[in-house]
Amino acid sequence: MKYYSTNRKSPSVGFKEAVINSLPPDNGLYFPESIPVLSPEVLNNFRSMALPEIGFEMMKAFASDIPEADLRSILEDVLSFDIPLVQVEEDIYSLELYHGPTYAFKDVGARFLARCLGYFSQDQDEEVTILVATSGDTGGAVANGFYGVEGVKVVILYPSGKVSDLQEKQLTTLGGNISALEVDGDFDDCQALVKQAFLDKELNEKLSLTSANSINIARWMPQSIYYAWMLKQLESEDLLIAVPSGNYGNITAAMFAKRLGFPVGSFLACSNANDVVPRYLETAAYSPKATVATYANAMDVSMPSNFPRMQELYDSSYEAITADVSGFTLSDDQILQTISDCRRESKYLLDPHGAIGYAALKQHCQPGQRGVFLETAHPIKFAPTMAKALGQELHMPDFAAGLMSREKVSQKIGKGYGELKEWLME
Ligand SMILES: *Cc1c(COP(=O)(O)O)cnc(C)c1O
Repeated sequence: MKYYSTNRKSPSVGFKEAVINSLPPDNGLYFPESIPVLSPEVLNNFRSMALPEIGFEMMKAFASDIPEADLRSILEDVLSFDIPLVQVEEDIYSLELYHGPTYAFKDVGARFLARCLGYFSQDQDEEVTILVATSGDTGGAVANGFYGVEGVKVVILYPSGKVSDLQEKQLTTLGGNISALEVDGDFDDCQALVKQAFLDKELNEKLSLTSANSINIARWMPQSIYYAWMLKQLESEDLLIAVPSGNYGNITAAMFAKRLGFPVGSFLACSNANDVVPRYLETAAYSPKATVATYANAMDVSMPSNFPRMQELYDSSYEAITADVSGFTLSDDQILQTISDCRRESKYLLDPHGAIGYAALKQHCQPGQRGVFLETAHPIKFAPTMAKALGQELHMPDFAAGLMSREKVSQKIGKGYGELKEWLME
C-alpha cells in the first residue's frame, strides 16, 4: 500500500516510511491510496473470528511492509485486553474501551504503533525520538507502549493545568526513556509545536523524529478494528454510533471501517464546547475558535488534526459527509447532569467523555433504533468531576491510588517553538 499526502505536494511513500515520517513534508496527512473493500468471505464470517484475527484481516492490506506472520503476532500482543460491549438501556450500549494498561482507548493505537516501530527499528542503530502532544490520555498510552524500549526516547508535550491529576501522573512518573514537557498553553499549542518540529530541517538532521499522535497512520488505522468487534457483538441494520471526539482520529477510524465494508451505520460527532466540527456539519463553514477548558478535557481541541482525513474519506463532499455524520454538543453543566441521571436511572457509570456520547444517543436515536456510544476512558481518571456530578467520591481502585502516590517529574516550557527546539537539540 502507498500513502499520499492530503496536501498532494509530497511524494507517496510505503507503510514503513509513512509510519516513521509520521507527517509528509508538505504538512498534510498520509492517507492510503486505496481502501479496498474486504472480501465477502471476511465480511460474512468476521462474527466468528477472534479480535486479533479481525484486526489482521483489516490491517493486512495497509501494513504492507510487515510480513503476515509478524503482523499477526503484533496484533495478538496489542489486542490482548477486553473490549466489552455493555448494555446500558434497552437500545443503548456502551463500548468500553478503557480496559487496557492506561485505561483509555488510546492504548489500542499506541500499542500498535509501538510494536510497528519496534519491528522497523530491529535492524537500525540510530536512536528514535518520539514526539507526542497529549490532551490527557495519549501521553500515558504512548509512554506505556514505549517504556523501557531500547533505542527509543519519548518526549511528551502536555498543556499545563489542563489534564487531570491521574493523567498527569501517568505521563510524569515513569522516568527512564520517557520525558514530560509541561507547556504553558493548550493542547492545540502542543500539537502545533510537534508539527513545527517535524518541519524543522535542522532538527531533523540531528534527530530521527517520529510522532505518536493520531496524525501517524499506525496510531490511527487500528482504531477501526474495535468497530468491527462491536458489530460482532451487536447485529443491527441502522446502528447509530456516538463517538466522543476531540482530534477526530477515533471517529474517522469508524468511517474507515465503514469503507472497508462493515455495516457500521451512521455517526454522531460528539463534542464539548470545542465544537468546530458540529458547527461545520450544521453550517458548512469551518471556523475554529480558541480552545476552552471543559470537564471532558481530552476533547479540548479546537483544530482537530484529523479533519482532513474526514474530508478525504468523503471526497471533500459536504453532502456526503452530512449524509453519514451529525454533530452533537454538550455543555459542562449538562455533562454533570448526564452522569448523575444515568447513574440514577440506569446504574451505569459514565465518564465525562462517554457522557457526551450517551446524551447524543438519548437525543438522536429513533424509536427502535439501536445506538452504541464509546466509553473512551475510565471514570476514575476524572475523579473531581465525577465527585461533582455524583455528590460523592468514587472508590479509588488500586492502580489509581498507586499512581497518585508517585512523584511528578516534568520540565516547564513556553508555547513558543524556540524553547522546545533548544531542549531537543541539547
Ligand atoms: C483522546 C480522547 C478522546 C478524543 O478522541 P479523538 O480521536 O482525538 O477524537 C475522547 N475521549 C477520551 C477519554 C480521550 O482520551
